[in-house]
Amino acid sequence: MMGLYKNLFIKVPRSKLRGIIGTRFARTFSQQAARYKPILAPRLGNTKTRFSSLLYFTRPTSLIKQSDIKIKHKYKELNIQIQEILDFQQYKKILEKVQEKIPDRINFRIFPTSFSPEGYEGGGFFRADDWRWDTLEEHLKSSGALGVLVRLPLFWQVEPLIYYACKNAGSFLFLNDASNMPVGRVAIKNASFNTIVTTSDDALEFSKHIQEHNCNDFLNWIVVHPINDIDINRMKISYANTSYIAHEVHLFPGIPLFVQCSHLARGKSHHFHVASEFSLDTLEGSISLTGNESDAVPLYKVSINVSATREKKKCPCGREVFILLAT
Ligand SMILES: [Zn+2]
Repeated sequence: MMGLYKNLFIKVPRSKLRGIIGTRFARTFSQQAARYKPILAPRLGNTKTRFSSLLYFTRPTSLIKQSDIKIKHKYKELNIQIQEILDFQQYKKILEKVQEKIPDRINFRIFPTSFSPEGYEGGGFFRADDWRWDTLEEHLKSSGALGVLVRLPLFWQVEPLIYYACKNAGSFLFLNDASNMPVGRVAIKNASFNTIVTTSDDALEFSKHIQEHNCNDFLNWIVVHPINDIDINRMKISYANTSYIAHEVHLFPGIPLFVQCSHLARGKSHHFHVASEFSLDTLEGSISLTGNESDAVPLYKVSINVSATREKKKCPCGREVFILLAT
């Protein structure tokens, strides 16, 4: 037996061996190989060994993801060929096509797949109904939010999520039509609204408006950037008394993809973490995203037109940090 192990180590690149020996050898080789071959074979590339059955032990165990298997199962149920998905536009088309077939539709909340009504043809992203916008709740708590002035477009339909975040953070909320800046300004000045949740475009305009009207209250901002419109310049809000500013990039309205923790927000950083619902691979300058099996049609290796570089140093919160470079 030792001879076999030795030969395996020689034949298989060391990079493919991490974490495999130990737990995987409890059963016989052939049993294990039969079990994992269909899952791992497409991902192994051109590695050759004369012990072909053993080859299938050579992936790190971390890559044998339960979530990958569940996502593939969902695709099978919905009769979607997984190879079809190449880029984000194609993924959105699939969402349009399959939404009527989603089992247990009642258990999902529907998010529009567009940030604006222009040209929107009604595709929906389905996420579990009990999912909550946790990063918003975290920011409300860590910034000491009292009143939350919400200036996100009604078209996004994210009010229920904001309601839950406010409820859990002990904040009160006011939906302020983005075109009605004076009412928003009065709420800040006279009614303890110290936190604004809005889009990157509106954050620039509204901050300018309140500054021009001599508003000098200390304010928290939670600013949402649509994935198709990332601009570092729109992360720089000039409002003088900004005490806390968190940026988020959303894949769809209300679906955070790149997020910040309270360390980054306090530091007014333009760097991001990846939201816990997604995993990210960088591929030749672009990004490939895989989602979470709790979504009705999760992303599976969908490429998006955003370039991101990984910082060497981790955030004090322990997570990896990414710098985004526009779309
Ligand atoms: Zn962090």
